[in-house]
Amino acid sequence: MKVIPAEQHQIPESRVHNAAVSVVRRLKEDGFQAFVVGGAIRDLMLGGHPKDFDVATDATPEQIRERFRGARIIGRRFQIVHVRMGREIIEVTTFRGHGEDASAKRRESDKGLLLRDNVYGTLDEDAARRDLTVNAMYYDPDSRQVYDHMTGVEDIRNRLVRIIGDPQQRYREDPVRMLRVIRFSAKLQFDIETETEHAIQVCSPLLSEIPAARLFDEFLKLFMAGYARPTLQLLDHHGLLQHLFPEPAHHFQRNEAARQMVLEATANTDQRVREGKPVTPAFLLAALHWPVVQHVAAQLEHAGEPPIQAVHSAGQQVIAEACLHTAIPKRFSIPMREIWDFQPRLEQCKSRRVKDLVASRRFRAAWDLLLLRQSAGEGVDQAVLFWGEQQEKFSDLVGSAPAQDSEKRPRRRPRRRRNPS
Ligand code: ATP
Ligand code: MG
Repeated sequence: MKVIPAEQHQIPESRVHNAAVSVVRRLKEDGFQAFVVGGAIRDLMLGGHPKDFDVATDATPEQIRERFRGARIIGRRFQIVHVRMGREIIEVTTFRGHGEDASAKRRESDKGLLLRDNVYGTLDEDAARRDLTVNAMYYDPDSRQVYDHMTGVEDIRNRLVRIIGDPQQRYREDPVRMLRVIRFSAKLQFDIETETEHAIQVCSPLLSEIPAARLFDEFLKLFMAGYARPTLQLLDHHGLLQHLFPEPAHHFQRNEAARQMVLEATANTDQRVREGKPVTPAFLLAALHWPVVQHVAAQLEHAGEPPIQAVHSAGQQVIAEACLHTAIPKRFSIPMREIWDFQPRLEQCKSRRVKDLVASRRFRAAWDLLLLRQSAGEGVDQAVLFWGEQQEKFSDLVGSAPAQDSEKRPRRRPRRRRNPS
């Protein structure tokens, strides 16, 4: 283990949030070990501003909870404690270990996938169970020393994402680690160490074992943090995109126009994140799946459905298929379908319902998709011209309509009476 003194790592004391420091000190007062750990230390060493702080300790979740008012134990797969300090929440985890008599606390599937991992251990063991070397550095706010059990400091210097331990085994335990490798490589603009990279090729099919809901959570972290474009390219390059989004990946890989459109959508999202503007996963997901919707709609049209109906049915099918892999919640899939439903309407350039369409809450997003389609050469120039003019003409109407039924809370079915008397 290397100990790096303050003069060398140059983490400014002022950037380590007081809340995290207080949690560490409180635990140390009671004789526990405690450190600030993980992404915060990595980002601080790179001169960044961490968005949240994690603490690792040898206190058990119960012992942590007893010591802080408003602390909650959450999670089952990995128990962690959320400690609320003013407006901040500090995630406190107990050191994980390998454990000998661990069968009750750690469960593995027959393929080595970790189903539950609440075996506690020492600081050393905890470092070895983390995902990446650059995420396994521990900071003591009192001595201001950084403890580097792996090769975190060196890998930061060489700008390398490296899995701790045997990459194939670590991916088998938790295939989401492959996505985390990609995420940090895109975010930090680090290369991926050779073994870490090669094992992805072998292990990528394991992603199919991950519940669709967890993949959606991971999708948000991958795509909504300001690095969607490089992330998409890396996921594609490493053969992971098809496990998150099989159909969109198929079109992305085979259709240059679709590829350009989706890349531009990710670039727009990244730009908005940089400008601090609000971003919705619905728009990005709508753009990502549009080539699929179009493909399915064309088949339906060929079979005789009129264009508006064809896009509508295609949207339904595409969402249902997508959710088998990455579970898109209704609050995003409903607006996605509305954005798609708009497209054939916009293409018709009819003037009777112009004001209604312009006033719809979904108009702006639908228009943005239309623009992406234009730049992908989809031949919607006339519609862009028409709706550009209409928007100027009715500029005070844009998006002014109240939420549609579908955006309100779902209507409950009237409760059936038990005893129809
Ligand atoms: P971010 O900047 O996105 O918060 P982070 O590195 O803090 O990055 P978290 O998801 O907050 O990432 O996780 C906190 C720490 O927990 C990580 O730094 C890593 O050490 C460990 N960790 C998270 N997920 C895994 C995993 N799947 N396998 C092993 N260790 C993990
Ligand atoms: Mg974190």
